[in-house]
Parts: sequence; structure tokens; C-alpha cells
Amino acid sequence: NNPMAIYEMGPSAASIEYFMVNWMLEKVGWTKAPTDIGKLSQGDFGGGVLTNGGSLANLTALIAARTHAIPDIWENGNPGNLAILAPESCHYSIKRAAGILGMGHHSVYHMKTDKKGVVLPDALPGLVSEIRAEGKKIIALVASACSTGFGLYDPLEEIGKFTNQENIWFHVDGAHGASALISNTYKTLLKGVQRADSISWDAHKLLRVPALCAAVLFRNHT
Ligand SMILES: *Cc1c(COP(=O)(O)O)cnc(C)c1O
Repeated sequence: NNPMAIYEMGPSAASIEYFMVNWMLEKVGWTKAPTDIGKLSQGDFGGGVLTNGGSLANLTALIAARTHAIPDIWENGNPGNLAILAPESCHYSIKRAAGILGMGHHSVYHMKTDKKGVVLPDALPGLVSEIRAEGKKIIALVASACSTGFGLYDPLEEIGKFTNQENIWFHVDGAHGASALISNTYKTLLKGVQRADSISWDAHKLLRVPALCAAVLFRNHT
């Protein structure tokens, strides 16, 4: 519980966080941050922070996605036409984040799913054109890996191909199930996860850390 805004306020905890985040980045298949401080200003590498739970990790990722889409948002506020795509089966923290972000719950559009709540990627192009035709700007698409209710993983590879092509920020809510990445048997459930821009990963769920502890990771640290 040290204040962690800068390294000097909590040097040992900040170092552990740095190495922990790097370990997780590698598991996702992203480039880890250099440990040589002189190299920190160069190159493309991932980044992340530990948060007090997956809900805060999701909120943090969506704040980053929104700033990426609208770089002057901190100065001028929400333009009022922002949209997020997520399956109806997504965790309640996604809608809550939209509320906290001042975008409103109605800015979350539901992607088509099968009856167990798994996203159907073939329906995405149609939905995205429809939303854009309404004059909306999509700041992020959120998929679950896995969903809280059914424990099922959305097809990240197909969704990621689409978001990369359409230049839409892809957030993977892996709060519940990203820990499958450390299993050689089950990591295939997250196939395609490297295509995402951000991922939430709870250590207090499948990693069995006894206190609330989550991470939000980014493919690109900037
Ligand atoms: C548990 C969970 C979260 C976040 O929950 P916290 O209690 O805030 O860690 C987010 N998404 C999914 C899919 C979850 O299962």
C-alpha cells in the first residue's frame, strides 16, 4: 500500500511491480520493457501497472483507449459521440467504466454472440458500419477471456484481425481467464491475444494471490 506514483516513494514495491509486469508481458507475447533505464526512451515495448482489482484495470485500459482515440480529451472533455463495443455477457465493470468516463451506459453497444455469450466475429463488420453511420466514434472493442458467467473465451484471433484492420483499440478482459497463458495446455484458449492493445489480468483469481491484485498491460507503453 505504499504510494507508488514515483519510484522514490516505494522503491522495492515499484521494482517488484516492474518485474511482475514484464513477466506478464512476456506471457502475453508482447515485448517486455528494458531493465536498463537508459533504454527506456527508445523503441517499442509494452508496459503496465498493477491495480486494485480487474474493474480498475478495465477502467484504466478504457481511459487509455479513449485518450488514444481523442488525444485532446483531457483538455476538452468528451465529444459526446463515443462508443464502446462489448458483448452483453461482459463483466459489469465495462458499463460502469463507461459511466465513470462520462460516456454513459448507452455508449456501450452489444456485439452479436451465440447463446452462450461468445462473440460472433462475422457479425462485426456490419455492426461497426452501422455504428459509424450514426456518426459515432468507436474508442474500443472489449472481448472476454473468459466470460464470468460461462467461462468461455471469445475468439481473439478473428476479433484481433478485424480490429487491427479497422484501427480499433482492442481490449481483452482477461481478469478471470488470462492466467491460462501460463499453462502450455490451455494457453491456446487465448490464441491471438498479442493482437490486442491492452489486457486485464487478475492475480487474485486463477493465480490464487490471496489479496486483491490485478494488472493492466499494454502492447505499447506509450
Ligand atoms: C472478476 C472479473 C473482473 C474484475 O473484477 P475485480 O473483482 O474488480 O477484480 C472483470 N472482468 C471479468 C471477466 C471478471 O471475471
